Amino acid sequence: MRVLGIEGTAWAASAALFDTEAEDDADSIFIDSDPYQPESGGIHPREAAEHMADAIPAVIDSVLDHAVATSETGAPTIDAVAFSRGPGLGPCLRIVGTAARSLAQTLDVPLVGVNHMVAHLEIGRYQSGFDSPVCLNASGANAHLLGYHNGRYRVLGETMDTGVGNAIDKFTRHVGWSHPGGPKVERAAKDGEYVDLPYVVKGMDFSFSGIMSAAKQAYDGRKSSDDFRAHQNSESSEDDGEAVEDICCGLQETIFGMLTEVAERALSLTGTDELVLGGGVGQNARLREMLAEMCEARGAEFYAPDPRFLRDNAGMIAVLGAKMYEAGDTLPVAESSIDPNYRPDQVPVTWRGDEES
Ligand code: ATP
Repeated sequence: MRVLGIEGTAWAASAALFDTEAEDDADSIFIDSDPYQPESGGIHPREAAEHMADAIPAVIDSVLDHAVATSETGAPTIDAVAFSRGPGLGPCLRIVGTAARSLAQTLDVPLVGVNHMVAHLEIGRYQSGFDSPVCLNASGANAHLLGYHNGRYRVLGETMDTGVGNAIDKFTRHVGWSHPGGPKVERAAKDGEYVDLPYVVKGMDFSFSGIMSAAKQAYDGRKSSDDFRAHQNSESSEDDGEAVEDICCGLQETIFGMLTEVAERALSLTGTDELVLGGGVGQNARLREMLAEMCEARGAEFYAPDPRFLRDNAGMIAVLGAKMYEAGDTLPVAESSIDPNYRPDQVPVTWRGDEES
């Protein structure tokens, strides 16, 4: 079976081909992506949608070329088209939905509407071979723990305000660093010393907005005392850069400590001994280290997909699309509207064959 997936919830215009009969794993998922890079500030929905409109046809063409090149018949031989239906930015989703509908109709194959957050979980489940893991989705616009029960992925805990990556990006914008901020925080934190920031976990939920305000205040406070020193002594202070590095270290330890605490509680609550990681923030080595240590201490298994499957990508859309297609979970075009607020617990899980467990 070969499924073409299209992703475009925010910044990544991406298309992929998942071939369930490819000879080895490396050949089974072919992805082409074109990321949107804001010139300044964070992701601007209109600009992101303009990028999507420009980039989606090209990445689809490249995947169709690959489909032809790897087909025995000289035709693309695609069984279904899957697309990210939500959650995400409405203007971007609408472009992806339109592209998917017209491609499915042109190829005369079924259409599959995929929940982007469930796809972040399912790529980890597929690659790890885990049966029924808890999933920590640590992405730009989201942060939650998912666990399977009675035919749905239940939200066991989630952010009460912003997504984890968006929170980090807000701090780095304040500091004047370009988007995305996460990798820059990771680099800076390596040379930093821990500073105390508010740690906010309430039951199974967590909050990032207070930490971000405190981090910005810590940065402004240090900056103004540096400015003051610079004013007193025209030579610039030697510890100018250290302040940001210390705050980055405190940010990572605090935010990732919160996510690790709630992930552990989710494992304990569900009695599961398998944890998978999903989402772009999962590319952070310190987060993976903390989660791996926690899992080892409690005798659980931990799996983090490769970075290219953690950040937004169409490979995960094609993989879940194939499972849904096999389960007969396809969409008539007339019912294929996008949903910017599509929650993972709205999705009936049709593809596991154990809907009542
Ligand atoms: P969602 O999947 O919820 O729609 P998204 O579309 O923003 O989120 P992702 O690709 O999952 O996209 O995640 C992007 C986020 O990952 C950005 O906020 C970015 O700063 C963050 N990020 C990327 N690399 C790292 C890193 N090494 N450390 C921390 N954060 C990172």
